[in-house]
Amino acid sequence: MSKKIMVTRSSMPPMEEYINEIQSLWDTHWLTNMGPKHNRLAKELGNYLGVDNVELVVNGHMAIEMTLQAMGLKGEVITTPYTFASTTHAIVRSGLKPVFCDISPEDYTIDVKLLASKLSVDTCAILPVHVYGNICNVEAIRDFAKKHGLRVIYDAAHTFGETYKGKGVGSFGDASCFSFHATKVFNTIEGGCVCYSDDAIGEKVYDLKDFGIHGPEEVSAIGANAKMNEFCAAMGLCNLRHIDENIEARKKICECYDDNLKDVKGIKLNRIPSCVKSNYSYYPVVFDPEQYGCDRDQVFEQLYENGIMARKYFYPATNAFSCYEGRFDPNETPVAKRISENVLTLPVYPDLDIKDVERICQVIRKSKN
Ligand SMILES: *Cc1c(COP(=O)(O)O)cnc(C)c1O
Repeated sequence: MSKKIMVTRSSMPPMEEYINEIQSLWDTHWLTNMGPKHNRLAKELGNYLGVDNVELVVNGHMAIEMTLQAMGLKGEVITTPYTFASTTHAIVRSGLKPVFCDISPEDYTIDVKLLASKLSVDTCAILPVHVYGNICNVEAIRDFAKKHGLRVIYDAAHTFGETYKGKGVGSFGDASCFSFHATKVFNTIEGGCVCYSDDAIGEKVYDLKDFGIHGPEEVSAIGANAKMNEFCAAMGLCNLRHIDENIEARKKICECYDDNLKDVKGIKLNRIPSCVKSNYSYYPVVFDPEQYGCDRDQVFEQLYENGIMARKYFYPATNAFSCYEGRFDPNETPVAKRISENVLTLPVYPDLDIKDVERICQVIRKSKN
């Protein structure tokens, strides 16, 4: 068997570049608590993401939890089950009730046609997810939220650096939460941020991330601890210097998949609308077992036997998690259920060899039996 190909591989700067970046920490001994690297990264990310306000935090999950809490929400949050565990858990852990809306079979984001049917007197917010870098219908969501007085918090973990009609994706809604986890397009090892429109939200997130401390003798909020440390910020400063070349390399890989898979019957590829500048974060393929000739799990096995680690992402849908058994009904979101049972994301990372991409495509073409 040839070498193993993982579904992703964390981006790292040249080691010397990182060492150079962290060297000053041995002079200052300032390791965390909003140090110079933290503040510089927040500023650079604001520019890169095209947003006015950035609050750096310890990870993408806490970005979502703290944003929900910063808004003082109570009641029901309309969201989708076609996402990573974090989105749903953040709602539940914040004492809110997720109300699951199904997704669009085209781009796997929240189906805005169904929003009205999910509304109740207890609805306080919508938490849509930009899945695989596919941007939600931000205009329809904005109009719906405005009409019904709802907050909008985007889970933007998959959309680092993307733009929609030329605008940074983080500038939509009341807040957008990004993840800088090791496996994401841009990483700070662990990390994340909240981009927000209203200063009051930013101040509350800040309180939550640093114990509500406002001065040596002033603690004015019951906060927690979710700060980004200087080593993580330093990693971010380095990775940000290479982000454009990394996204360009991802693009070449995704285009190679497109070329090799576009004619295969029974598989649906991701389509990027012309008004979106994509980050090529994931390469999802959805199988139609009837037309394709075998099911998703069989393709997964065949890839595995060839040393290729594809990922069933997202599977299961969050409303089918065992921890939520009896609380939600996965059959209420049939599209999310069907996509989660038929999807694979294929390996994508900047230094993935094009020859390996071709080999992966060969397996997918042959696995049709
Ligand atoms: C990665 C991810 C998160 C959580 O981010 P962490 O930085 O890992 O805490 C949340 N939502 C989605 C959709 C993600 O992919």
